[in-house]
Amino acid sequence: MRKVRMLDLTEQYKNMREEILETIDEVISSSHFILGENVKKLEEDIAHLSNVNHGIGVANGSDAIHIALQAAGVKEGDEVIAPTFTFFATAGSIARLGAKPVFVDIDPITFNINTSEIEKAITDKTSAIVPVHLYGQMADMTIIKDIANKYGLAVIEDAAQAIDAEYQGYKPGEIGTAATYSFFPTKNLGAYGDGGMIVTHNDEIAEKSKVIRVHGSKPKYHHHVLGYNSRLDELHAAVLNVKFKKLSDYSKLRREKAEFYSNRLAELVSENVTIPVEKEGNYHVFHQYTIRAEKRDELKDYLKENGIDSMVYYPNSLHLQPVFKYLGYKEGDFPVSEKATQEVLSLPMYPELPKEDQEYIIEKIVEFYNK
Ligand SMILES: *Cc1c(COP(=O)(O)O)cnc(C)c1O
Repeated sequence: MRKVRMLDLTEQYKNMREEILETIDEVISSSHFILGENVKKLEEDIAHLSNVNHGIGVANGSDAIHIALQAAGVKEGDEVIAPTFTFFATAGSIARLGAKPVFVDIDPITFNINTSEIEKAITDKTSAIVPVHLYGQMADMTIIKDIANKYGLAVIEDAAQAIDAEYQGYKPGEIGTAATYSFFPTKNLGAYGDGGMIVTHNDEIAEKSKVIRVHGSKPKYHHHVLGYNSRLDELHAAVLNVKFKKLSDYSKLRREKAEFYSNRLAELVSENVTIPVEKEGNYHVFHQYTIRAEKRDELKDYLKENGIDSMVYYPNSLHLQPVFKYLGYKEGDFPVSEKATQEVLSLPMYPELPKEDQEYIIEKIVEFYNK
């Protein structure tokens, strides 16, 4: 039986093995492992990609959110607005600062924060909004920025899934106060371990983030802010520098795979499956290709029986997570998100995904609904 995984990184490695091994060898031979030339180059390249002045490499995408919030002045007791339908780290990073996550429901079409629900959630304790560019499509940034300006709030864009994406020609970090990326191995630009980055056009936030990632030490051994150890390693940065050259090709390939899925699914099972929508003016980079599916769990099992992996991102809304029980939310508070958790299904997606695999996946989905 054919086996199709969500993501297969082996083909990518085969295509760049020599260059990767060479750059790893250079780092080890130089004995310079922390905050050297490789991190600096990646910071510059990713800042440039984001059309901003600063990139700050950190240990992972969760720390990037946490540090960017702290650098933007968010503190204990503040309220920070975030969508309830996202990966845990979005809200985890807010709570780790001692701030209170305040959840907002999502738009049923894009799965991103519903901008018309944001103002209702603002109080005099609110200090920031963390929109998430879910699945690789950016949230409605100009609307969010207008609201933030009206109330004097920082906007930290969680762009973990959306490196290289665009909203009306703007990149993550261009409209917001800062944006954060993750280089977790499965992300669109993935390291061979954990990594993350903050990008910003704000000099002060950039400087503060750099201090926070080295224990809040500035000058060395003098500590005026509480920082921690959160740096991007040279080894990871070196690997990412090799992969970065391919990023825009990867995005194009992901978009091609998405288009292929969408054309076939719309033609064959439009009554049972809702395909992803790219809003006009957006450049969706399809970190995930996520459908809404009738009888989602049965479809998932059927695909599994036929050797095809699929994933539910995400099976639970954050407002219902046990760890956030103290926030006092209950079932029914955010119905659009709760419904999405019952219906979404992400299909295999990566730049090298073979066309035959895609055909096979579509064949099995059609077979399931016609059975
Ligand atoms: C992956 C991810 C993160 C966290 O990144 P890590 O590098 O795993 O810490 C945060 N937010 C979203 C939306 C993510 O997908």
